[in-house]
Amino acid sequence: MNENDIGGGSGSGMRDCVVVGAGAAGLSAALTLVRARRSTLVVDAGRQSNLAAAGIGGLLGHDRRPPAQFYAAGRTELMAYPSVELYTGEVTHGVHEDDGSFTVAFGDGRRERARSMVLAPGMDYRYPRLPGMDERWGGSVFHCPFCHGWEVTGRPMGVLASGAVGVHGALNLRAWSDRVTLLTNGSELTDQQREQLAVGRVGLDERPISRLDGPGAELRAAVFADGGELPIGALLVKTTLYQRSSLARDVGAGLTEPDEMLSVEAIKVDAMCRTGVPGLYAAGDAATSVPPSMASAVASGHLAGAAATVHLAAGS
Ligand SMILES: Cc1cc2nc3c(=O)[nH]c(=O)nc-3n(C[C@H](O)[C@H](O)[C@H](O)COP(=O)(O)OP(=O)(O)OC[C@H]3O[C@@H](n4cnc5c(N)ncnc54)[C@H](O)[C@@H]3O)c2cc1C
Repeated sequence: MNENDIGGGSGSGMRDCVVVGAGAAGLSAALTLVRARRSTLVVDAGRQSNLAAAGIGGLLGHDRRPPAQFYAAGRTELMAYPSVELYTGEVTHGVHEDDGSFTVAFGDGRRERARSMVLAPGMDYRYPRLPGMDERWGGSVFHCPFCHGWEVTGRPMGVLASGAVGVHGALNLRAWSDRVTLLTNGSELTDQQREQLAVGRVGLDERPISRLDGPGAELRAAVFADGGELPIGALLVKTTLYQRSSLARDVGAGLTEPDEMLSVEAIKVDAMCRTGVPGLYAAGDAATSVPPSMASAVASGHLAGAAATVHLAAGS
């Protein structure tokens, strides 16, 4: 079946599974399901988190590959199986029906049903809104040194964060640069935290920042409200991940509270990506309990697909 062709249109029948999201997690879940011959509808709005980055860092077999190429390759692999349907669109609402099945509704009014559901919608990455940030996001400004640290190795670097998270991030970033400065943007550290930075040979600047400056997408300096500057070529930014929509709650999944270090408002799942709602699974960033990455999204997607397949087998 072709991409974007939901066979027979709205209400064309009960599928085995609907997968929401075709990022690393959703594609991986769907591949597992279709290889077990399960009819699988994959719905994707096409806004994978890392599309802003030039390359994927740290995914074995795909290191530095442009993200769009990775997703295109994943879709091509999926389309080789007869039981998959890929649909470009947005699920606006979901319902867990009394008979245990799931209904998803699209913006255009179309509705589709499935006996199981995998939520893989990714997350909304939120970071402090400073002028000069957005155009550098995913390049010289990043949230994860394991993803993008190598590409800026050796440059003087800043870490925009405060408190224990800031100290942790700055000490960790020393693996990629000998010149790291923690920028707290106006908040103050404790004496103990200052001592930790000094021992780790990390600089500290607590002045409020007014903007980031540099040519194009490059970063030259953090500019402070008092007019002073700190030359930096890269900036690690504390980021918090939020659910992109109410979809998980619509279908009865519970969420975790964001903790200070990981900062993820994740869907609660067990080790097999089960949400506690029979037939409902969640994978990737949306359900992560570890620092988010492409590798863990692929892995959890596979587990969610396998768990859904087992659930379907038990009911058929
Ligand atoms: C800027 C940036 C750079 C990164 N770089 C790296 C890196 O180099 N290496 C690395 O390992 N990790 C990196 N990450 C993290 C990595 O991108 C994520 O961990 C990974 O993309 C998570 O995959 P996912 O499938 O859960 O979500 P996503 O990749 O975000 O995919 C989710 C998909 O679901 C779709 N969707 C959401 N809601 C709906 C809905 N209601 N209906 C239909 N579709 C929906 C979205 O549009 C999207 O296409 C980066 C993250 C960011 C923000």
